[in-house]
Amino acid sequence: MATVAHRICPLCEACCGLEIGVEDGRITTIRGHDDDVHSAGFICPKGVALRDLHEDPDRLRRPLVKRAGRHVEVSWDEAFAEIERRLPPILAAHGSDAVGMVFGNPSAHKAGLLLYTPRLARAVGTRNVFSASTLDQMPKQLSAGLMFGHWLSIPIPDLVRTDLLVVIGANPMVSNGSLWTVPDFRGKAKAMQARGGKLVVIDPRRTETAELADQHLFIRPGGDVFLLLGMVNCLFAEGLVRLGRLAPLVDGLAALEAAVAEFTPERVAARCGIAAPAIRELARSLARAERAAVYGRIGTCTQEYGTLASWLVDVLNALTAHLDEPGGAMFPKAAAFQSNTTGASGRGKGITVGRRSSRVSRAPEVFGELPMGCLAEEITTPGEGKVRALITIASNPVLSAPNGPQIAAAMDQLDLMISVDIYLNETTRHADVILPGLSPLEDMHFDVALPQLAWRNTARVSLPVLPTPSDRPAEWEILLRLLAIATGKGAAADLRRLDDELTADDVRRVAGPAADAVLAQVSGLRGPDRLLDIALRGGPYGDRFGMAPGGLTLAKLKAAPAGIDLGALEPRLPDLLRTPSGKIELAPPLLLDDLGRARADLARAVPDLVIVGRRQLRSNNSWMHNLPILAKGPFRCTALVSSIDATRLGLQHGGRARIANGPRQIEVEVEITDDMMPGVVSLPHGWGHDQPGAQLGLAAVRPGANLNALFDETLRDPLSGNAVLGGVPITMQPL
Ligand code: SF4
Repeated sequence: MATVAHRICPLCEACCGLEIGVEDGRITTIRGHDDDVHSAGFICPKGVALRDLHEDPDRLRRPLVKRAGRHVEVSWDEAFAEIERRLPPILAAHGSDAVGMVFGNPSAHKAGLLLYTPRLARAVGTRNVFSASTLDQMPKQLSAGLMFGHWLSIPIPDLVRTDLLVVIGANPMVSNGSLWTVPDFRGKAKAMQARGGKLVVIDPRRTETAELADQHLFIRPGGDVFLLLGMVNCLFAEGLVRLGRLAPLVDGLAALEAAVAEFTPERVAARCGIAAPAIRELARSLARAERAAVYGRIGTCTQEYGTLASWLVDVLNALTAHLDEPGGAMFPKAAAFQSNTTGASGRGKGITVGRRSSRVSRAPEVFGELPMGCLAEEITTPGEGKVRALITIASNPVLSAPNGPQIAAAMDQLDLMISVDIYLNETTRHADVILPGLSPLEDMHFDVALPQLAWRNTARVSLPVLPTPSDRPAEWEILLRLLAIATGKGAAADLRRLDDELTADDVRRVAGPAADAVLAQVSGLRGPDRLLDIALRGGPYGDRFGMAPGGLTLAKLKAAPAGIDLGALEPRLPDLLRTPSGKIELAPPLLLDDLGRARADLARAVPDLVIVGRRQLRSNNSWMHNLPILAKGPFRCTALVSSIDATRLGLQHGGRARIANGPRQIEVEVEITDDMMPGVVSLPHGWGHDQPGAQLGLAAVRPGANLNALFDETLRDPLSGNAVLGGVPITMQPL
C-alpha cells in the first residue's frame, strides 16, 4: 500500500520538512513538504539522500563487539553483557573521571540522543566531557552567554525583513544556516535583494553566497577580529553609535569605547586585508541602514580569536540599533526546551566558565565541556583522572578534530571504548563495542535545540515514517541501558521504571509541589515523547497542563503534520536576559582582557600561505560520503588554490600536491580557481576515508584527505577552547 509521511530532515541545521512516499515498507520518493510551516517545500540534495542513508548496506543494524581484533555482530544482550563485564570495574577502580565522553554533531538531530545524553553524562559524573561544540561553535555560545546570560541566547538575522545582511565567514547558500536555521537561504536572500536590500559577504573565498552577494570582500583568515574592531572603532569615532530602544538596557558602553580606541581602521587594515576606507564604509552602511544584521559563523569561530570575533558581531548589531529589532538580529522563541523562556525573566545567574580545568593542559571548562583538542592527552597521559574508557556518541573525532591521527593512536590505548553510532567508521573502528541506533526514518523526532535559532517561530514533530523495529532499541533506550550499567543497576534493569524515576526527578526539580499533577497528565507517555509533552505544555505556547486551554500539547502537534506556525520573530529584550545585572553586557571583563592578545598581535606578519575549510552542498562533516546520491559526480575533496599561488608554487590544475604544517602532511588534488584570495588554500574537512577496519565501502573508493590531520590540537581560542581550524600557515608543493 502506498502512503505519504512527513519527517523533519535530520541531516543539517536547516531542519526542512520532507514529504516521503512509502510503499510496502520501502521509500519511493522524498521531496520538500510544500505545506511545512518552517521550510515551505524547500529541500537540498542531502534531504533526498535520507533514503540512501536508510538503505545503506554499511549502516549498522546490530551491535558489534571487537573479538581478536575484528568486529563481529552480536545480540543486544551480548553487547550489553560485554559492557557490564568491563565498564563497572573501571569506574570502581578509577572513579568517574576515568570515563570520557565525546558527543558528535548528529546528536543534535536525534531527539532521543539530545534528551538522554545529558542524563547519561550526569549519571556517569565524569569531568571529561568533549563535544563538537569546541570544534566550531563554542565561541559564539560563550560570547552570547557573557552578553545575554545564557549559552543559547544567540541572536540570528531576521532575513525576511532586513535591508542589509553582512555575512562574515559563513556560506549559508550551501549550509542554509549554521547556528541559524534558515531553509532556502537563497530564496530569502533574493527576496531581500528584490525589495532593494543588500547582501555583503566577507570571506577569503568567493563562496556560493559571495556569488549571490552585492558586495564581496576578501579577508585574511583569522583577521575577522581586526575588521570587527576597526568597524566598532569607526562607529565610536564618527559618532555613529545608536542604541535605540536598548539604551537603558546596555552596560559597558564607555568601557567598550575605551577598549577599542586604538583599533582604528588604518591600524587593523593590514591584519585583516581590507583597506581602511572599506572598513569605514561597512561601518557607516550598517549605521545608516534602517534594518540590518551582521552574521558571523564558522570562519569567525574556528580561529584563535573566536570568542572576541563572535562577541564583536553582536556588539555591532547592538551599537547600530539592530539588535532585537525586526529586520535586525533577533532572538527566536521556541516552543520547548529553551532555557531563556523559563524561570524569572530579565535577570539571572549568568554563565560561569572555568569551574574546573583539564587535567593535563589546565584548559578551562566551558559550558561543562573540555576542549576536544585535549582528548588525546587525557587518554595518554598517566596519572589520577586519566581517561581509561571512552563513550563516543555519534562522533567521529578522528576525522573531525584537530590532529585526528593522534586521537586514533590514543584510542588504541584505552581499556574500553563504547560507541553509539550507525557506522563502523574511522573512529568507531577503535571501539570494543558499537551500539547502532535506529534509522531516522524508524524513529520519532523533535528538534530540541534548533528552533531556538530558527528564522521563524514554529513547532513540528515527526512520527516514525517506517515501523520501529521491535527487536532493536532506540538510542534513548541504548543510553538508558548504559546509564543502568554505569550506575550499578545492571544491564537487566527495568528501563521503564528507570525512565519513570529519572523523569520524576527532573519534573520535581522544576515543578516542585506541582510535580505529581504534571506527571499524572503525561502518565500515558514514556521516553522522549513524555519529555517533549512536558516541555511543550510547560513552554511559552503550552496549555500549562490545562490552565491555558488551546495551548500546545504533543497531541496537538502530532495532529499537525505540517507543523504549527507560532509567528514571526518578536523583540524579546529585556525578558530574555539572564545576566546578573539584568543588562546586555557590552564589555564583559573576560573579553576586554583578551583584547590584549589582539593588541599585541596587530603587527604580526601575515604568512605566505594559510589553509581554511570549506562547506559543501553534498556533504556535512564526515558522515555523508557513503551515500550514493551524494557521492556521485566530480571529486569534491580538492584543494582550491588561486592562480597566483599556483604559478608561484608550480602547481597544476588536477595535479597532486603535498600540504604540510610542520611534520603533519597530507596529499591532495589541486583545483586552481580565482575564487580564492591569493595566499589562502581551501580544503573541505571530514574526509580521509582510507583507514583500515572502517566499513564505508563507497566512501573508501574516493577517500580524500583529512584536513584536520594538519592541525595542532594545542592551538585554540583560549577563552572557549575552540580548535583553530582555519588560517593555519602551511607549505604546499607539487608531487
Ligand atoms: S538543507 Fe538539505 S540537508 Fe539540510 S535540512 Fe534541508 S533538506 Fe535536509
